Amino acid sequence: MSSSGELFVVAAPSGAGKTSLVNALVDSDEQLALSVSYTTRPARPGEVDGRHYHFTAPEAFARMVEAGEFLEWANVFGNCYGTHEGTTRAVLDSGRDVILEIDWQGARQVRERFPGCHGIFILPPSLAALRERLGRRGQDSAEVIAGRMEKARAEISHCGEFDFVVVNDDFDAALAELGTIIEACRHGHPPGGPRHEALLAELLENG
Ligand code: 5GP
Repeated sequence: MSSSGELFVVAAPSGAGKTSLVNALVDSDEQLALSVSYTTRPARPGEVDGRHYHFTAPEAFARMVEAGEFLEWANVFGNCYGTHEGTTRAVLDSGRDVILEIDWQGARQVRERFPGCHGIFILPPSLAALRERLGRRGQDSAEVIAGRMEKARAEISHCGEFDFVVVNDDFDAALAELGTIIEACRHGHPPGGPRHEALLAELLENG
């Protein structure tokens, strides 16, 4: 019986609450492993190397690209981000499900490589809420906030490429919805054929 895990790709504009939702999901579900991306972006205060990201020098990142080590990678607003292929495959092969928190460009590449992956897009409940969330982070100028809004719009314009859309209005409700989607995908049919193949063959054999 195949025991390969399911691959989930979660994208969202900044300000949709994606990271908090994904962290809560992973904390509540032992079967789910969060992939730690590589990035050339410098660490922000409080970020830990190896936990939030593998912070990588641009030259080292370029070498990894050259060596074909990434399942996907993209330049997102000036910094490079990538998902390590070997690590992702090893976790999937161990039978655990993997969740990738990446941008729309990466999601496209993953869809090509893993047609059976499940794409989930998280939306903020309204433009006003998005604006509020993007402005909340300190004393940013109107110009900085406008820039973030523009980036958010660019990400949101790719929402239709995903299998599921979750609106994060109420955190607990959005978390429950994500849990339901993940549970449903686990019981669906992976690309290699229906689950419970052996059991079905047995049940149908002498019908
Ligand atoms: P941040 O720098 O704010 O942590 O992330 C910026 C953007 O990069 C977010 O949209 C995030 O989802 C995306 N991102 C993070 N890791 C990866 C990755 O491994 N691949 C891709 N394509 N995007 C990523």
